[in-house]
Amino acid sequence: MPTRPRVFVPPVFQTARARRAPDRRASATARGYDYRWQKFAKQFLEDPAHRLCAVCLANGKTEPATQVDHIVPFARGGEKYDVRNCQGLCDIHHAQKTRRGE
Ligand SMILES: [Zn+2]
Repeated sequence: MPTRPRVFVPPVFQTARARRAPDRRASATARGYDYRWQKFAKQFLEDPAHRLCAVCLANGKTEPATQVDHIVPFARGGEKYDVRNCQGLCDIHHAQKTRRGE
């Protein structure tokens, strides 16, 4: 079957997703982010104490938290469902922390 030749797209015209390195991690479910986690995360972010990104807040900004972050990753022994080990982060700060492998 003939394949379409790859067209060079200058990075400036690529979508952010295309520019990013491919995500080679296991699926979210395989990494332990299952239905129970989704429910926990939703409740966590609905709590007024966790509605804002912790990093933005430390920098004097108020950005809504969209992700629940483990302060100590549960892959490194952090407690997954302990609210004391969780903080709300915005997409940007959560992505930065994820890229650093934390
Ligand atoms: Zn933030």
